[in-house]
Amino acid sequence: MKVIKEPAQIQQLVDEIHKSGRSIGVVPTMGALHKAHRSLIARARKENDFLIVTIFVNPTQFGPGEDYKSYPRTFKNDQEICSKENADLIFSPDEENMYLEGHATTVNVAGGLTDYMCAKHRPGHYSGVATVVAKLLNITKPHRAYFGQKDYQQFRVIERMTKDLNIKTKLISCPIVRENDGLAISSRNKYLTKKERKQATYIYKALKEIALKIKSGQEISVSSLYKAIADNIPEAEIDYADIFDAKKLYPVTEFKKDVVIAAALRLGKARLIDNVVVKKGVD
Ligand code: AMP
Repeated sequence: MKVIKEPAQIQQLVDEIHKSGRSIGVVPTMGALHKAHRSLIARARKENDFLIVTIFVNPTQFGPGEDYKSYPRTFKNDQEICSKENADLIFSPDEENMYLEGHATTVNVAGGLTDYMCAKHRPGHYSGVATVVAKLLNITKPHRAYFGQKDYQQFRVIERMTKDLNIKTKLISCPIVRENDGLAISSRNKYLTKKERKQATYIYKALKEIALKIKSGQEISVSSLYKAIADNIPEAEIDYADIFDAKKLYPVTEFKKDVVIAAALRLGKARLIDNVVVKKGVD
């Protein structure tokens, strides 16, 4: 598996691929690759001639007190997974390659998309995400980039950023991959104790229950999702558990458009997020 750390080296390579008329797909990740990342990589493999997986634990999207230092780093295993999925190369820059000395330009994410959900609880997070993704897309110049629906707000923010910065890459949102008991797979699930891991399955159950109620036109009180999670996972510190407009991400109490039912909570050492989208008129 070819590994490149230098942005300039990748840029030269992708220029040649563009000249030869081949398509490029990119899967941006922070490594610690698991089944869910694999599904993104496998899809990107099918849809592109040349596949790049980026692995970079981006310091600027972690807030003070968050798990930047302890975030799992499993590069050897990641290489094996990329190789099994037939990726063409891994772009895995060091921090100094990405943020040159004197780095002074960041993408400032303002506007309604970051008024609620995770943005409210992780100040600066999406600016860090938008900056690093803009850089990764500029370096790898892909035709298509693949992201997971699990990070729902992240996808909307990146969509906005690419529009605003005239980046032509097509963004593809891939379905959430879950464990057999429904818990959304995450590199952070390994922080959970056995008891917490069991309780965590309740998040998806609660989201699904609300989704069913919305689909069948039942009444839902504003706090019912929050209460359902709080009652079943008493140790959780819930950042939010609510229903949002699927495009604009503000909280809604009427379900006339597509909505995303989403929750984020801290349980032990892990911060867990999950969501279910309910489309208008779709079962
Ligand atoms: P990460 O390295 O965990 O930040 O994630 C890299 C990409 O994988 C992001 O686009 C995530 O949304 C996606 N991803 C992570 N976990 C899942 C999951 N359980 N299902 C679908 N996509 C996921």
